[in-house]
Amino acid sequence: MQREAEKKSCAELLKQCRIERDLEREHIEQLEKLLNHDPDTGLLQRHILMRRLSKLLEGGCETLAYGILRLDQNYQRIRHIRDRMKVLLYVTTERLKPIVGEENLYQSDRSDEFLFILENVKSRAEVEKRINDMIIKVAEPHNPPASDLTFGCNVGVALYPEHARNLDELVINAEIALGIYEEKSWHGFIYSPEIGEAHYANQSLEYNLRKCILNNFEGFHVAYQPIVNSKKEIVACEALMRWDAPGIGAVSPEKFIGLAEKSGLINYVGKWILYKALAQVKRWRTERKADMQVSVNLSPVQLEQKDLVDMIFTAMDVLKVPGEAIHLELTERAVMLNPEDISTKLKMLQSRGIEIMLDDFGTGYSSLSALNNFPINTLKIAKEFVDNLPDDKEALEMIRVIMSITRTFKFTTLAEGIEDDSQFDLLVKEGCQFIQGYITSPPVAAVEFEERFLK
Ligand code: C2E
Ligand code: CA
Repeated sequence: MQREAEKKSCAELLKQCRIERDLEREHIEQLEKLLNHDPDTGLLQRHILMRRLSKLLEGGCETLAYGILRLDQNYQRIRHIRDRMKVLLYVTTERLKPIVGEENLYQSDRSDEFLFILENVKSRAEVEKRINDMIIKVAEPHNPPASDLTFGCNVGVALYPEHARNLDELVINAEIALGIYEEKSWHGFIYSPEIGEAHYANQSLEYNLRKCILNNFEGFHVAYQPIVNSKKEIVACEALMRWDAPGIGAVSPEKFIGLAEKSGLINYVGKWILYKALAQVKRWRTERKADMQVSVNLSPVQLEQKDLVDMIFTAMDVLKVPGEAIHLELTERAVMLNPEDISTKLKMLQSRGIEIMLDDFGTGYSSLSALNNFPINTLKIAKEFVDNLPDDKEALEMIRVIMSITRTFKFTTLAEGIEDDSQFDLLVKEGCQFIQGYITSPPVAAVEFEERFLK
């Protein structure tokens, strides 16, 4: 009897042990899953891919492509709509799986980025086709209720062994290839030695830029370009930054501003030019022309800065410059990034009399109704719309459409890049109030501006 009872309790103990062991295994499996899979997409995470890649390279694999796919700025716009974002991320994952194979798709450490590998690639053309398919698939419209949310992606790929001797080089070179899209119009790049060279040249320029900024903005100065009314009277000017890099020479603003944006230096540079331009206009208003105004460009990165409005108000107070003397220029790209937040900031700026201008109007993709609801005073018509005036009929039609829009929405208009009298006369005839361009002068140093235009 006693033996029977002992046997039974032993069996129960064993059962209990098994249950506990199973639970523990389940627990471990769950923990592993949590550790290795991304909770939103269900994909395996980067560290697992790195382990796999490492084994593949050590195992002497013949050819391999490693790629990074990063969702674009339109995705950044919706990233704060958290629930929709999760669904869209999941949908995107499902779209990508058939193209590279489920087992080859991984989640990066960033939530807006996927990583993938393609083993035994036969040709560059094969990789290009997959990149192409991914770009097209990601950009396809979504089903309701997300049909209003579209975004695309950029892809960078490096090939082994063509572009890399080891894992580190492979990963870095794919990252370099991904970075190149910003300067080109295409969105998918395979690494090449030329791409690498351009990247390292930029890096050294960025190093110089940082050094000069820290060295009290060495080599920086501001050029001013006149803005005239329909009677060719100077009413304002645009402050444009210049940088003569020591030992290199003049670097184009597009280049160094792009670098400053990428590296976060733009906030320092933007503050520097604001103080310079306000101090200059203050001097001109008190010593020469009481109603002179100055326009300062704001980069999209600056617009995202939390204390931007504070920074501008402080500059106005410190330098005692009224809002009426200041125009701020921003691009459609910047406006559309985070419309609500930017709209609030612009309204605050307008409340102190600052005028807001939309730069390069017509080159972005913002909808007219969105612009109409936005706190904007002036549209700056981009140079490309005036280049072929007055002879090109299509260009003329385009300008008429733009002018009719500005009348409907009651925007002030300023045409940029006007180089000759025939363009000037036509734009004034079509109702454009202000003109900027080589017809009056290219941007010049403050001293020259004063001598030529403020005597
Ligand atoms: P943007 O704001 O569109 O500035 C106008 C550009 O057109 C200037 O080029 C100006 O020199 C040029 N331009 C003006 N009139 C004519 C013309 O009649 N013909 C031709 N061919 N060009 C004309 P710039 O100074 O090289 O500046 C290029 C861009 O760099 C600017 O374009 C702006 O986006 C950026 N940038 C310059 N300074 C600053 C700055 O202080 N902050 C920021 N965020 N961006 C700046
Ligand atoms: Ca501008």
